[in-house]
Amino acid sequence: MHELAICQSLLDQARQIVDAHDANGIERIIVQIGPLSGVEAPLLAQAFSIARSAAGFPNAELEIETSPIQVRCQQCGTTSAARVNALLCGSCQSWKVDLISGDEMILKSLILTEQPASLSGPLTRAG
Ligand SMILES: [Zn+2]
Repeated sequence: MHELAICQSLLDQARQIVDAHDANGIERIIVQIGPLSGVEAPLLAQAFSIARSAAGFPNAELEIETSPIQVRCQQCGTTSAARVNALLCGSCQSWKVDLISGDEMILKSLILTEQPASLSGPLTRAG
């Protein structure tokens, strides 16, 4: 599944951030997905619920934000919003437009689980 690979990559990035901040875990991962990215939000959410345990973040939640499609016209230079099935200039209706946003998939932010001070240090020792 395409979305599962994306989740594993997201969780890899998250793991590096958690380690860099010496955090306990992740409370929430917020991603931004453009409608033209080819990523299906419901499939991504489903894949995340599978991948998070394997990555060691069983309680992490995924929040998906959709970014707007924006194009810049090559004819008149106008930047306007466009629809998935109508990538046209909002001003002159030209189809000669450059995509500015709408095809991205970004790890937007990460809410880390704070490690409670009272629980720091090894609480139990094996052996
Ligand atoms: Zn135009």
